[in-house]
Amino acid sequence: MPDLARADHMAVAAPAGFASRLIVDLDALRRNFAALAAHVRPARCAAVVKANAYGLGARPVAAALLREGCRHFFVAQLCEALEIADTLDAGCTIFILNGLEPDDQRLCAERGFVPLLNSVQQVEAWRAAAVARQRRLPAALQLDSGMSRLGLSPAELVRLAGDSDLVRHLSLRLLVSHLACADSPRHRANRTQLARFAQARALFPGVPASIGNSAGAYLDSAFRCDMVRSGLALYGAAASLAAPPPALVVRLEARVLQLRDVSAGCGIGYGLDDVASTPRRIATIGFGYGDGWPRSLGGGRGAVRFGDAVLPIVGRVSMDSMMVDVTEMNGSEPNCGDLVELIGPRQSIEAVADAAGTIPYEILTRLGNRAQRMFIEGGNTLIQPAGFRA
Ligand SMILES: *Cc1c(COP(=O)(O)O)cnc(C)c1O
Repeated sequence: MPDLARADHMAVAAPAGFASRLIVDLDALRRNFAALAAHVRPARCAAVVKANAYGLGARPVAAALLREGCRHFFVAQLCEALEIADTLDAGCTIFILNGLEPDDQRLCAERGFVPLLNSVQQVEAWRAAAVARQRRLPAALQLDSGMSRLGLSPAELVRLAGDSDLVRHLSLRLLVSHLACADSPRHRANRTQLARFAQARALFPGVPASIGNSAGAYLDSAFRCDMVRSGLALYGAAASLAAPPPALVVRLEARVLQLRDVSAGCGIGYGLDDVASTPRRIATIGFGYGDGWPRSLGGGRGAVRFGDAVLPIVGRVSMDSMMVDVTEMNGSEPNCGDLVELIGPRQSIEAVADAAGTIPYEILTRLGNRAQRMFIEGGNTLIQPAGFRA
């Protein structure tokens, strides 16, 4: 299988039974992990695989990262930990970012997941669970160092640090905080949050600490602490202007469903918002907002690619399809059944996000629920779900 950056749009046949395909280059994912791990050393690099590994497929992604030497994984909720747990091995740790709900305690304890404790109530409930089980339970403490999202206040951490009974019942694996402005390297808040985090670290000597996400890995080295938690950079989007461009992991392609010539004055798509001012040739593509493509890309704000040609989206994006203008291709336009590129070497995730008025995270996490996913690693291909062949 050719690497994604060089693969031609016709290199792989359209998926049987599907209108679109998401190709995930696990070799590129592994290269991104290896590069980031080398960059942050001696700090460790952990992988954030929440939200189905940002829409790419949590199990194949986690398994590939494990093969690359990753041992620390972060998910948002218990169900995501359960989904990947059996693809990992005993030397791995899964942290649950969103905290610990009372209903989740039993499974969390049995399976050895490490919850981030985000409130005093969560600390007390987990301590009580440890007492009831008569064994120490693993935990991470999260400090809200200034983002006002999740975590304990500095004062609450001071009180917990003075409570010697805590570590009799809880084995503290990590002290965590999260930066609000890591993608703006010069933002004052980064230093303020780091200073508050340093005070918290001093309260828990010997407990490893982590404040940086992908972008945080490219702030100065003080932000790496003992562990960097990376998501976006692994999946091939630039985490910050300071970061080198990552290897391309994702390629999204969709089929041309139909071609038609429309005469001047014809409306195109729902609401007939766009009207052809001259005769146009229109291709309908099998990808829409029901596949996770933003509706905000309609009306010419977004495009798809066919080879080097840019095909602007005309009219509103529908649930299962959208129309693109191929008039300028003068006969070299794609045929029915051909695949056009929505994301790949010619159209980056960042470019799509910019055009849609959002961030690469939102683009990625919305994709992949309906497209056939194809995972490439070491010359092998795994297809999920399989296509239908007559
Ligand atoms: C999502 C998340 C990350 C990963 O962020 P990226 O910018 O994708 O690297 C790290 N830490 C926390 C707490 C998160 O919620």
